Amino acid sequence: MAVKSLKKQGSDLAQSNKQLEILSNGIFQTGELPTFKNKISETNQFPLKAKKLEILQINVGYMCNQVCDHCHVDAGPDRKEIMTRDTMRQCLEVIKNSGAHTLDLTGGAPEMNPDFRWFVEEAAKVGIKDFIVRSNLTIIRANKKYYDLPEFFKKHNVHVVSSMPHWTRGKTDKQRGDGVFDKSIKALQELNAVGYGMPNSDLRLDLVYNPSGAFLPGDQASMEKDFKKALLEDFNIQFHNLFAITNLPIARFLDYLIASENYEDYMYSLVEAYNPAAVKNVMCTNTLSISWDGYLFDCDFNQMLELPVNSKVKHISEYNEELLEGRDIVISQHCYGCTAGAGSSCQGNTIPAEAGIS
Ligand code: SF4
Ligand code: SF4
Repeated sequence: MAVKSLKKQGSDLAQSNKQLEILSNGIFQTGELPTFKNKISETNQFPLKAKKLEILQINVGYMCNQVCDHCHVDAGPDRKEIMTRDTMRQCLEVIKNSGAHTLDLTGGAPEMNPDFRWFVEEAAKVGIKDFIVRSNLTIIRANKKYYDLPEFFKKHNVHVVSSMPHWTRGKTDKQRGDGVFDKSIKALQELNAVGYGMPNSDLRLDLVYNPSGAFLPGDQASMEKDFKKALLEDFNIQFHNLFAITNLPIARFLDYLIASENYEDYMYSLVEAYNPAAVKNVMCTNTLSISWDGYLFDCDFNQMLELPVNSKVKHISEYNEELLEGRDIVISQHCYGCTAGAGSSCQGNTIPAEAGIS
């Protein structure tokens, strides 16, 4: 596991333009592989258009207590980008007035933002249907000031979505750091103890799986069964759904692909697994991503690549849902990660299992 973010290391890959250059050149420039634009054009799906807004995803900062190998945010304890309460107030105005039914708080570890609890309390009052917090679990055990997070989440009826790359210590710690597995297990047990993840409980607890190497996730439904069986038998842990998410070739995962000489093979696998049926439901079509400093992006990945929305409206302070709807989505080759197999988004597969994979 990395100990510092790429940014702190002064790595070239901390720069979004360097990442975009890699994604545009090489095998895509020579035509060995089709660009994402050309690929979706084959089925007349270019340009991708934003539909009605359903999900507001707010990134409250890039600081994290972990430095996971695959992190698309390049998050870590050394990242200082944090959303201020003023920007949160602007977000709250938008949450109140937008047509979105889902609010999704992410980071970094969102709980490390000093105004996180204030923001959750205020946002919960708006009565949005599904209020997600992406918690990395270990934060709950990182320091005693976070120990009551399960109760806090429960009080505000937050839907907890947490990464758990495997049900074994070895695979989890390899990707996320020594000790992460044990702390995650303890945090899951504490969430279960207050009612999260239990059958018939309204306190939603979902887990996120993403592969630990240069390969694509397996079948989401069968992995969910395996996770449920193992976590219940070994640790008496229950949860609701498992989301299988494909690693996108950006930030630290791109760094890993290049360092391990897997970049080209991985891009080949993504292009081979391209599923035209997954294109119409990619998450940027119904989601808007807001950065820690209030700028608007089609998704969290575009945010990290500093590809702003293609709209007159660029910042939360000038938010206008009508102007944003129908905008052309900004794409590059990383988008292949969202259209492989059964499709991938922050909510897992974008194609229901019964619809099949073409
Ligand atoms: S993947 Fe999540 S938990 Fe890991 S460093 Fe990134 S933001 Fe933190
Ligand atoms: S990476 Fe972002 S912009 Fe590209 S398809 Fe996925 S959600 Fe859409």
